[in-house]
Amino acid sequence: MSLGSASMDNKINPLSNDLSKPSSKPSNKLPSNKRQPWHLDKSVAPRLSKEITILGAGIAGCTTAVALAKRGFNVRVIDRHPSAGSEGAGNNQAVVYPKLSPRDDLLPRINLSSMKFASDYYKPFWDRDVGQQCGVLVLPESEKTASDFKIIGERFADQPGFVQLQNNSELRGVSGLNLVAKQGLFFPQLGWLPPAEVCQQLLAQQGIPLLRADIHKIVYSDNHWQLLEANGDLFLTSESLVIANAFDCLQFEQTAFLPLTQLRGQITELQQSPASSTLKTVICGEGYITPQHKGVHSCGATYNKGVFTTELRPIDHQTNLEQMSRTDEGLGEAIGPQDIASLSGRANYRCTTKDYLPIVGPVPNVPQLLEDYAPLRRDARCEITSLGSYLPNLYVHCGMGSRGLSYAPLTSEVLAAEIAGETLPIEDELRLAMHPARFLIRDLKKKRI
Ligand SMILES: Cc1cc2nc3c(=O)[nH]c(=O)nc-3n(C[C@H](O)[C@H](O)[C@H](O)COP(=O)(O)OP(=O)(O)OC[C@H]3O[C@@H](n4cnc5c(N)ncnc54)[C@H](O)[C@@H]3O)c2cc1C
Repeated sequence: MSLGSASMDNKINPLSNDLSKPSSKPSNKLPSNKRQPWHLDKSVAPRLSKEITILGAGIAGCTTAVALAKRGFNVRVIDRHPSAGSEGAGNNQAVVYPKLSPRDDLLPRINLSSMKFASDYYKPFWDRDVGQQCGVLVLPESEKTASDFKIIGERFADQPGFVQLQNNSELRGVSGLNLVAKQGLFFPQLGWLPPAEVCQQLLAQQGIPLLRADIHKIVYSDNHWQLLEANGDLFLTSESLVIANAFDCLQFEQTAFLPLTQLRGQITELQQSPASSTLKTVICGEGYITPQHKGVHSCGATYNKGVFTTELRPIDHQTNLEQMSRTDEGLGEAIGPQDIASLSGRANYRCTTKDYLPIVGPVPNVPQLLEDYAPLRRDARCEITSLGSYLPNLYVHCGMGSRGLSYAPLTSEVLAAEIAGETLPIEDELRLAMHPARFLIRDLKKKRI
């Protein structure tokens, strides 16, 4: 599956024969990306070599490393842990989560592209029994989602290999449980993965070294980025750098402007029982549960803003169990009563954005970009001839929220194609929706900065 030399014709078109056509927005003159070319770099720094460093060995960093290595870059990855996938990506079973909408918004279009790309990307892992391509069943959380599911089911009726609108007896058949839901969407090509193992295998397959260091500061000097440790010691220098360390990118002055939130989540591990062991697919609704692996189901997850501990909290196990019962009574019955005090699990943090979209691309030179684009404060539709300003050979890849597994394969391709100077594998509109400078441009237009 190579998108490396994608031409305009073979760009992923997330709307191919399904959701409505891209909207034609009212425009006074040119489309906004031509009227205000903030995403184009006016001071492109020459790259002397194909040497590049990725900071962060989660799913964002590891997929980026592979996408660049496949393009002939000499890649190394740095993490503060000795093995890849030790933080956000550290759960035993994570779901390639599908999210569709009948609306033609950017978020569902990006979700659709990402999930189709991800299912191909992970196929070789599933074929080797790393995780399971067991299908993902999504049950409606309300009357409203149930009616959305109907529209989606009709639109994708010609793609049963991708998604099927199923009735109760079909839901029971694919799930292996006596579900009570009347309908649901079944995605047969998705499933669950052990993210840490995926991260480690990705690096190993390409022979990409993982170096251990906790980087506290980055400084640009002599055409190179210097990566400094807490005591100020220089760990290494690199001509090009991708910052893929999730929420902790806020510690660097270059990326501190990004509007990120750290959102704690906890999963609960449930020992399989005779009733639950028949579960054959992932089920998602208010929460999610995976088929058992080594006798254990993963069930989650909670969303706790403002809570900063990775200690397990009984109240979160309780929440996860209640979510399962609310997802479907039949699922609640299969899980049965549990002794909260004896449950195990794992808690960590998601790195989320205000618009729920990932952040991928070059790091803006914030003061310069704000100066060049200051006229937007007066007129959000004005024409600006200056291109954007970006820091030399510095990129960021973060903001994966709850869907790192779904987003990262595609966003890594976008980033690697951009770094390699190739045509991007997605439409311009989708690419700009994930651009790191989008927040600055929006805030200028809304006179927030
Ligand atoms: C409870 C829970 C359940 C989840 N379930 C799912 C799921 O089912 N499906 C799904 O797709 N997503 C799920 N997610 C979200 C998913 O974990 C994230 O989207 C994903 O981990 C983001 O990947 P990342 O590479 O951006 O960040 P991370 O995986 O957090 O990786 C960042 C890496 O950077 C390193 N790092 C940070 N700062 C530094 C530094 N200064 N120096 C050196 N190294 C540094 C860290 O050690 C870490 O390895 C879940 C999250 C939680 C918390």
